[in-house]
This record gives sequence, C-alpha cells and structure tokens, in this order.
Amino acid sequence: MNVVLLSGGVGGARFARGLQAALAPGELTVVGNVGDDVEILGLHVSPDLDSILYTLAGLNDEERGWGRAGETWSALAAASAWGGEDWFMLGDLDIGLHLVRTQALRSGTPLSAVTSELVAAAGLPSRIVPATDERLRTHVVTPAGTFPFQEWFVGRGHGDEVDAVAFDGAGEASPAPGVIEAIEGADAILIAPSNPYVSVQPILAVPAIGDALAARRVRSVAVSPLVGGRAVKGPADRMLSRMAGGTTPRHVADCYPGLLDALVIDESDAPADAGVPTVVTSTLMIDLDAARALAEKALEAAR
Ligand code: GDP
Ligand code: CA
Repeated sequence: MNVVLLSGGVGGARFARGLQAALAPGELTVVGNVGDDVEILGLHVSPDLDSILYTLAGLNDEERGWGRAGETWSALAAASAWGGEDWFMLGDLDIGLHLVRTQALRSGTPLSAVTSELVAAAGLPSRIVPATDERLRTHVVTPAGTFPFQEWFVGRGHGDEVDAVAFDGAGEASPAPGVIEAIEGADAILIAPSNPYVSVQPILAVPAIGDALAARRVRSVAVSPLVGGRAVKGPADRMLSRMAGGTTPRHVADCYPGLLDALVIDESDAPADAGVPTVVTSTLMIDLDAARALAEKALEAAR
C-alpha cells in the first residue's frame, strides 16, 4: 500500500515513525514542510525535514521533543562567545547535518536531492521529500507585526497571537521532483497530526500540490493534532481558537476543505460532527507502539 504523508516537524514525525513501522519498506513517502526553513550562522536549517529524518532513523531526543539524542552544544556556545547569533538552538550533532546540506546546496544540489542522500545515509526504508526545492517561507501576522516564522516561534517564543499566516514564494513554487508522482501513485493520502496553519498549509499552498490532492482518486485521511481540544505541544490550539473560532474536530477539518474523506480524532474529542466522517481512537503517541496503532487506524480509514 503506497502512502503519502503530509507532515510538519515533531507531531508529524512521531506519526511518520508509526506509519513506517506499520508499512512495508518502500511504501511510505513523507512530503515535508519547508516553510520553517531558516539560515543560521550561514547554515541552511530545515527543522521539519530534520525532525522527520531523525525520528524515522530513531536518532531523535524523545524527552526534549526535537533534535538529536545525546546532543551537546559546544559549537553554539563558542559561536555565542565570539559574538555570533545564538537565539536558535543548534546542537553539535545537528550542525554536522547542516554543514553537509549547506555545502550541497551551495554546490547547486537541490534540497530534494540532498534530502534523499541524507535518507540513504540513514538507511531509511521510507522517502522524505520537501514540498518544494524553491524558496517558500512562512510569515506570521500578529498584533505586534509580521515576522518570519522562526523569529516568531523561537525568537519570540510564539507568544504573540496569530491573525494570519502567509507563505512567501508558495504561489510561484513548483513541487519538488517526486511529490506529484508520489501523490498520483499513492493508494492513500494521510495528513499528519501537525499544526494545520504552519506545518500542513504551507505544503498545500504549492499550487500543483493542492491541485493534485484535490484531484485524488484515493482516500485522504487526516489525524487531528488536538487531544481534548488542546494541542499536545505548541500553539495549534491558540491559532485555531483565534483564526477558526474554536478547537473542535470541525475546526480542524475545516482547515482542509475538499481534501478529507475522514478525520481521526481522540476519544476525548468525541463524539463530534466534523463535517466529514470521524474515526475515534486514542491519538496520544506516547511511544512507538502507540504511534503504530494510530497509524494502523488511519490506514484502515484510508483503505
Ligand atoms: P512542528 O513542526 O515541530 O511544530 O511539528 P508539527 O506541526 O508536525 O506537530 C505539532 C503538532 O503535533 C501540535 O499541534 C501537537 O498537538 C501535535 N502532536 C504532538 N504529539 C502528538 C500526539 O501524540 N498526538 C496527537 N494527536 N498530536 C500530537
Ligand atoms: Ca515546523
């Protein structure tokens, strides 16, 4: 069963790992958000692609929730002591990856090609493809002004309420090689329990991707990132409250108009009229077994 998963970083990566465990090798293609990408200390960082890569490879730090297990921070401390920028946390192990990617990008290799090389180096049985190789950057509009995504998320600790999001470059962006082929060859489309506004919508904002999904001939199922009307982590609930007017399954489903055949929701949010059929299960991915069980439910709903 060939499956395409649209995914942001941490929540998406946890779900992707469950899917990878539930599927046969080669069956999973993860299309990752690049709206969060940022240049730090001259290095090209792709936080969502990296969360997916680290998590699928079992290299992620479960407790911190992002980055690599066993991480150390000497390079950043040294950069900071020399007066370099230190607002964005980059660990030593993480920097090793950013060096390799940045060098490849500077020599003209597209992001999708570098990403496949990293996936191959990790020996993964799944594919990870950025939504686009072109420049696409999320900006958030807040009462305090409009900020590039990471300046708001990390720099300002996502403290400002969000009135709107914009995806600079999305309108002109073409999908990375492999994205449309994967969607057209998929037996099911899944949308991860990622932040709808800043993780999934930047992928859908690439016109050819949105069009290919709208024209799908297979089922498409999303997993809600809410448990009991609250985000497990991060600002998704606050964003839904302010921009959609609430945090029910209906508000989540409405973020994906015309793109859902079912929505998987947590027991604590049921029963609910989401406007599309719902599948009720426990959606908290406390470990790999829980993520795999959730993935199996979503796959069942997508058959
Ligand atoms: P980011 O790019 O690192 O912010 O990650 P994502 O957008 O992919 O994931 C963030 C979302 O994941 C948040 O809205 C969380 O509510 C959601 N999330 C994290 N862990 C879980 C979980 O175990 N179950 C569910 N249903 N959602 C989760
Ligand atoms: Ca992200």
